[in-house]
Amino acid sequence: MKYFIQTYGCQMNTSDSERLASVLERLGYEKASELQEADFLAFNTCSVRQKAEDRVLGLRPKLLELREQNPKIIFAITGCMVKKSSTKNDMAKKDELLRRMPEVDIAFRIEDVAKLPIFISKIDADLEFKDNLDDGTLENYFKIAPRKEANYSVFVPVMTGCDKFCTYCIVPYTRGREYSRDFNEILDECRKHVEEGALEITLVGQTVNTYGLSFNDRKSGKFNDFKMNPFAALLREVDKLKDKGLKRLRFTSPHPRDFHDDIIAAMAECETLCPYFHMPVQSGDNRTLRRMNRNYTMEEYIEILSKIRSAIPRVAISTDIIVGFCGETEEEFERTYEMYRRLQWDWCYLARYSPRKGTYSEKKLKDDVPPDEKARRWHKLNDLMMNIAAGKAQSLVGQTLNVLVNTQIGETCSGRTDSFKEVKFKSGRTLLGRIVPVKITHTKGIEIFGELA
Ligand code: SF4
Repeated sequence: MKYFIQTYGCQMNTSDSERLASVLERLGYEKASELQEADFLAFNTCSVRQKAEDRVLGLRPKLLELREQNPKIIFAITGCMVKKSSTKNDMAKKDELLRRMPEVDIAFRIEDVAKLPIFISKIDADLEFKDNLDDGTLENYFKIAPRKEANYSVFVPVMTGCDKFCTYCIVPYTRGREYSRDFNEILDECRKHVEEGALEITLVGQTVNTYGLSFNDRKSGKFNDFKMNPFAALLREVDKLKDKGLKRLRFTSPHPRDFHDDIIAAMAECETLCPYFHMPVQSGDNRTLRRMNRNYTMEEYIEILSKIRSAIPRVAISTDIIVGFCGETEEEFERTYEMYRRLQWDWCYLARYSPRKGTYSEKKLKDDVPPDEKARRWHKLNDLMMNIAAGKAQSLVGQTLNVLVNTQIGETCSGRTDSFKEVKFKSGRTLLGRIVPVKITHTKGIEIFGELA
């Protein structure tokens, strides 16, 4: 029996897929090298952007084709598009996705991954598993040991869920309420990864810096004795793994509302913490931010950015922006544009607003910016972003930067600098998973090229 997992979206989903792979292997599945070989095909979905959701919904013809080739194949969906774990054979209320995609057999919330043998048996009662996962070791989703895609760079989840309820976002309804993972359990996992060769650790969570602060966390009492912000304490402890070989520490994605001074101080002082971080802003206009229920003002966001830039002068910062949100006027969009010009982010994941079913904005706000106007705003902001990014790339020419090589095809290598800039260069030696010095020779737009120093 073979499995294949197709992952969409953020690093949190990548981390979840690694845990799902490990569960499937305990059941007796082996990893298929391509989708066509799979007997169990899982899609780990993202619903933050319409494109990602459309891509999943557009898979239906492909699924029919695969089922024709292999009538016993099982299709499963997990991730942010799933609200309720259920199978197509359940009598009780099923997840809505199973209605929209009748070819899919199982929709499961990632937290229910240990129940997979039950779900699979409801689809094919004859299947036998190597392990029925009934020894209780997988009850805590966080404790599942991931099947890592790359030993040198790993994702470690520290919290899950979201209590922020941005009006356009479905995550709080699919992932549920925020709760944080045990502090020592995270450190144990990080230590193990480093002992097994990890050079880079990325701590992940929906709002990673809310670590230890949620209602559930306060109720649990687990973080009551902390003398500093729990996320800052976590960064400082993971940083100590530099003595065992850790070179780079990252985290994603923080929420501006919970960006405390303790965290900025830890970012400045932890040697392994990379001078790059991603902090979604979504809009540069306070009225739009209010309609989005982002719970901060632009002035507050700018203050955090200024503190970070003074504490870490060479920091690179990226963001997320949605254009054409409900009621966004030309004047409001222009404020976002001006703010981009002023703050000069290194990169932006830019989206045109599209309503997600079941969210507050879909139910209560009017999607009143016409599609061609959304497109115009998107292109205008995208042009600015590209210009700024190209200028920042150009400023690196002549510098020698350490690059962690994450792709090598023949002699063509590429990898990331500590400030998350992708650099391409050639090497006759195998360098995958190594950090090497690369002299930046030239750029082409936002693409950066170099040679081994
Ligand atoms: S902070 Fe907002 S956008 Fe991010 S996951 Fe939570 S509700 Fe969604």
